[in-house]
Amino acid sequence: TALLGRPVDEALADALVDVAARVADGAVADYIPELAGADPGAFGISMASVLGRVYGAGDRDALFTIQSISKPFVYALALAELGPEEVLRHVGLEPSGEPFNAISLDEDGRPANPLINAGAIVTTSLIPAAGADERFARLRDTLSRFAGRELDLDEAVYRSEAQTGHRNRALAGLTLAAGVLGTDDVDDATDPYFRQCALLVSTTDLALMGTTLANGGVHPLTREQVVDEIVARDTLSLMATCGMYDRSGAWIFRVGMPAKSGVGGGIVAVKPGEFGVGVFSPPLDPAGNSSRGVALLEMLSARSGLHMFDHT
Ligand code: GLN
Repeated sequence: TALLGRPVDEALADALVDVAARVADGAVADYIPELAGADPGAFGISMASVLGRVYGAGDRDALFTIQSISKPFVYALALAELGPEEVLRHVGLEPSGEPFNAISLDEDGRPANPLINAGAIVTTSLIPAAGADERFARLRDTLSRFAGRELDLDEAVYRSEAQTGHRNRALAGLTLAAGVLGTDDVDDATDPYFRQCALLVSTTDLALMGTTLANGGVHPLTREQVVDEIVARDTLSLMATCGMYDRSGAWIFRVGMPAKSGVGGGIVAVKPGEFGVGVFSPPLDPAGNSSRGVALLEMLSARSGLHMFDHT
């Protein structure tokens, strides 16, 4: 059997992990000690179809922090709560071509897009809530619905992110000064942002979160409509243009799938209408994307015909 008739199954997952494991490039993120201690050899993949079939290989159940992969899902919540017009007043739709932590504000003072840090912090600040705790509770609830189970917080990673996140606080301050932050208290934006980055996921969680987007916002196993179909489409659009930081152009050229990476070593990629893929391998390339994860997804896309501009 294969995923919806695609040549994608457990044997292929095993083979891809074997081949991509030979990619030895990259370095584990070391901006906080908790990430520097990650096992560079950990490597897993999961794939989940819109019909609820799940395949995987390697360290598919290992838990790691979601980091920037939280950003599109929080963006989806902001779109659902406020609508695209209001969200667009605060954060743009353009690939920045710059690193994830760039000081990148357009002529209207908006961050270029919601998938770089500046834009993600603004997006988090837009979620209606009385304060940081309630805002994080809402984010965690939404990300958990996308995954189909309650996601836990890695307290140590959160504390480290908060202690060392001066650049992210500065980005929040700049967006507050530019009039696009959703709160006038920087910590009410950055504290929930640090916590959303420290939520723990497995590749299976990522695959199911991706499948929920692939499936018009409906989780394939819980059957919950987490967001509307149009919100899922809007979110995938941003992932296609901006999901891989300043390698987003090369990514869509080679792999051709909406995706999002995180410095914890995870990547989620989506074949709309069909399935989601989650990959985990901590060593990162210079742009902050998992080296083996990128290599594996390039092979998977080529082998199984997943490029969005393939004509069949
Ligand atoms: N917590 C990280 C940060 O804000 C997340 C960035 C990432 O995954 N690229 O710097």
